[in-house]
Amino acid sequence: MKKKLMKIVQITDSIFTQIIDPRLQYKKSILVLTFHGIFLNETERSLNFVDPKLFISIENFSKFLEYSIDKDYTFISPNDILKGLDNTKNYILLTFDDGYYNNKHVLSILRKYKIPACFFISTKHVKYNKPFWWDVLYREGIKNNLSIKQIVKMKDQMKIKTSEKCEEYLIDLFGYEALEPVSDIDRPFSPSELKEFSEDRLIFLGNHTCNHNILSSYSSKERNSLILYSQRDIYDFTGITPLAISYPDGVYSKEIIEETKKIGLKLGFSGEFKKNYLPVDSLDNSYMKFGRFNFYGYRNSKDCIEFFNIIISNGILVNWIFKRFFH
Ligand SMILES: [Zn+2]
Repeated sequence: MKKKLMKIVQITDSIFTQIIDPRLQYKKSILVLTFHGIFLNETERSLNFVDPKLFISIENFSKFLEYSIDKDYTFISPNDILKGLDNTKNYILLTFDDGYYNNKHVLSILRKYKIPACFFISTKHVKYNKPFWWDVLYREGIKNNLSIKQIVKMKDQMKIKTSEKCEEYLIDLFGYEALEPVSDIDRPFSPSELKEFSEDRLIFLGNHTCNHNILSSYSSKERNSLILYSQRDIYDFTGITPLAISYPDGVYSKEIIEETKKIGLKLGFSGEFKKNYLPVDSLDNSYMKFGRFNFYGYRNSKDCIEFFNIIISNGILVNWIFKRFFH
């Protein structure tokens, strides 16, 4: 049933696109795919240490990647975009947000297929070994017998606050100890682990602010220091100065783009579900607002592959559906 529905959406989308803008069918694009945490196995999911919607098992990630490799895509790094791309090919950029230690499990797969990936790091988490507030909410919520519905509602309400306020709120609710990681599943990289990880030539690091700060919740002056602080931290940890930023929660504005550019960042990644058609328009600040497809909630390889098939089909209608219902 689901498969049939997907097929109908794809066919309708193709017809729709042919009528509205037939050139799009032939335009090549960059697909930026976003992941967060990696489970080593399904048992790790059942421990309820993290919000499982943000996680995929290593086995399912690997199966999905193998499927996408078979399609005619070239896998690129952020630096390849900056060097300039041949407009006659389709590309994929793999990205991972936040800085989970468990991301290191993908390295052997990336090496096997010689595929680069960019990891966007929230640096105070790395520096102070802090878990992410949404995982703490999930873990403690489950422990305290809250329903998933209640946890999701609380998460939505907290999202509009600053990260600092979210953490204070969780301390009030669950105590100081709740803000400590409980395992390798929920913890971030340590500075030395991040350095070692980043030494592989397939690994690229990006800015994700210093405390996973949703930038629209802060003043211009605060935003500047949150981004700059992260740039300096990543340099201190690894000797790398990032050229790319992923705006936490995908939130950006014209002002945020200008401020980010002034700090020296050359590429920005948003939370908009959209393909990035080639050539990328340099006049329109397109380099600072790449769309991304977030694999949020896609827990198995079959779901990921179905989602992938929808996003690779040409899509004015699909883009509209994503914008309307998923963002
Ligand atoms: Zn994030």
